[in-house]
Amino acid sequence: MEVTFFGTSAGLPTKERNTQAIALNLEPYSNSIWLFDVGEGTQHQILHHSLKLGKVSHIFITHMHGDHIFGLPGLLSSRSFQGGDGKPLTLIGPKGIKEFVEMSLSLSESHLNYPITYIEIDEDLSYSHDGFTVEARILNHGIPSYGYRIEAPETTGTINVQALRDIGLEPGPKYQEVKLQDTFEYNGQLYQSQDFRGQSKKGPIIAIFGDTKPCANEQYIAQYADLMVHEATYIEGEKTLANNYHHSHIDDVFDLIKHAQVKHSLITHLSNRYNVEDIEQINQALQNKADTPQFSFVKDFDSFKI
Ligand SMILES: [Zn+2]
Ligand SMILES: [Zn+2]
Repeated sequence: MEVTFFGTSAGLPTKERNTQAIALNLEPYSNSIWLFDVGEGTQHQILHHSLKLGKVSHIFITHMHGDHIFGLPGLLSSRSFQGGDGKPLTLIGPKGIKEFVEMSLSLSESHLNYPITYIEIDEDLSYSHDGFTVEARILNHGIPSYGYRIEAPETTGTINVQALRDIGLEPGPKYQEVKLQDTFEYNGQLYQSQDFRGQSKKGPIIAIFGDTKPCANEQYIAQYADLMVHEATYIEGEKTLANNYHHSHIDDVFDLIKHAQVKHSLITHLSNRYNVEDIEQINQALQNKADTPQFSFVKDFDSFKI
């Protein structure tokens, strides 16, 4: 899978950084792409990338602040003309997301040529699709804001060719049954497929957070994540200022990484007050400190494979 950032600024765009949008490419598990947040100008950013809007099957919105949703009506309209014709879309987000989209489209007399299924979250959400599970939990941001925990499907272990040869079964079409079914029959005998496969492997866990100050539900979303995307609106100065504005300070994110034992962390939604040089300088200082956990600040168009 691959995570790509189309916007990494907080609140307002800057010359280098657009407002929030993240794409999760589900290959090799599925052909689809899931978007998380659609800040203003997201569709312009996507034009500089190979991503096709027609492949976007799901959009998840973390919360209703403008830097996370103002690009939605435009992107949904363009999807009609960019390969989305007749391809259903699922839009998941806080209460009000349906009204926001339908009102924007109806007042501008925009008509989509594909259906949208809306799922509005109240307190939390459990959702499954294509073998993926998605859990959402409410965070602490002044207005309802959610973190999403995505678990990819389990993959079956590789086939033990020698063990199959030992029972007389040479490589061929029958191996597909061993790979995909619980049992298989050979020479009139029934075998358990798992005896001829390696250990099945759990799919990676990805945690994508909406804006928040530290709260208990963060731990649930981030626990043992292979990849976490989290905001740090403030990457220097006093923690209390960040938390007073219902945002996270970089030290809050470091605490979460350590407590939840996150493997790899990508930090986004840095305040628009920081320019590229500021971020690089602060990054250097943090990376040089002995107790800093593994993390990266992300820029627009950065991509990470998982
Ligand atoms: Zn924001
Ligand atoms: Zn916000």
